[in-house]
Amino acid sequence: MSGQKKAKKELPPIEPVGVPFVDSHCHLTYGTLAKEPEAVVQRAADAGVAAMLTISTKLETFGEVLAMAERFDNVWASVGTHPHHAADEAQEATTERLVELAAHPKVIAIGEAGLDYFYDRSPREVQQQVFRAHIAAARQTGLPLVIHSRDAEEDTARILQEETEKGAFPFIMHCFSAEPWLAEKAVELGGYVSFSGILTFRKGENVREAAVRMPLERLLVETDAPFLAPEPYRGRICEPAHTAVTLRKLAELRGRTPEEMARITAENFFRLCTKAKPPAVFAEAA
Ligand SMILES: [Zn+2]
Ligand SMILES: [Zn+2]
Repeated sequence: MSGQKKAKKELPPIEPVGVPFVDSHCHLTYGTLAKEPEAVVQRAADAGVAAMLTISTKLETFGEVLAMAERFDNVWASVGTHPHHAADEAQEATTERLVELAAHPKVIAIGEAGLDYFYDRSPREVQQQVFRAHIAAARQTGLPLVIHSRDAEEDTARILQEETEKGAFPFIMHCFSAEPWLAEKAVELGGYVSFSGILTFRKGENVREAAVRMPLERLLVETDAPFLAPEPYRGRICEPAHTAVTLRKLAELRGRTPEEMARITAENFFRLCTKAKPPAVFAEAA
């Protein structure tokens, strides 16, 4: 092998799930996914992933996210500013502006917004201010807020508690990677928790524990594609089709069949995202 490039290991194909379900968080406008979205969406459908929510991380590029959603009947968009970009967009990402952009029929959620103290790319006070502006937009529109929280458990819980006291708002803790208590706190405040490929990682013990403790009616699944491909695809480009792998893991952890878990998570998604009209394939499977 010396001097030769190591060949990529052959991996088994993704095993499809026979009941349609939803990837509640992906970035179809990122990297290679954006180059061939028709093929990506088709491969997802082949795996049972019959709908997906493509996520905005900057108002500056929201137009691209919206254009992607407009290309497909089964793809919706969110609108918001990720904590990484909070400093750049603190002036633009006001509640008023978010509410205005959310009026588009393809926009079914606010975010992703929240706190990222792992990278700290924006000052923490600015992250918190922009997070609260998004919360107010979710409260006003009734659209769920997609929350990004990394290494910021205490402040996330505190802000969610304070803001809920001002008036409840729907939300999703996306790509859950925190301690199980934060998932329980989210549930207590009326939120949903979305699990990604981390559920399959060797070091995902905490995340698996959170998933086991969740009430079934608050569970969602996602990829966060093109990031975080589940095992055994870890390190490859993640795409929405990989949600099938994470769904199978979640089903195993909860002692359910993948088909049952597909039904449960799809029902949860459409109960929460009231603006998204389920494509016909969901009604046929019900
Ligand atoms: Zn995120
Ligand atoms: Zn994301």
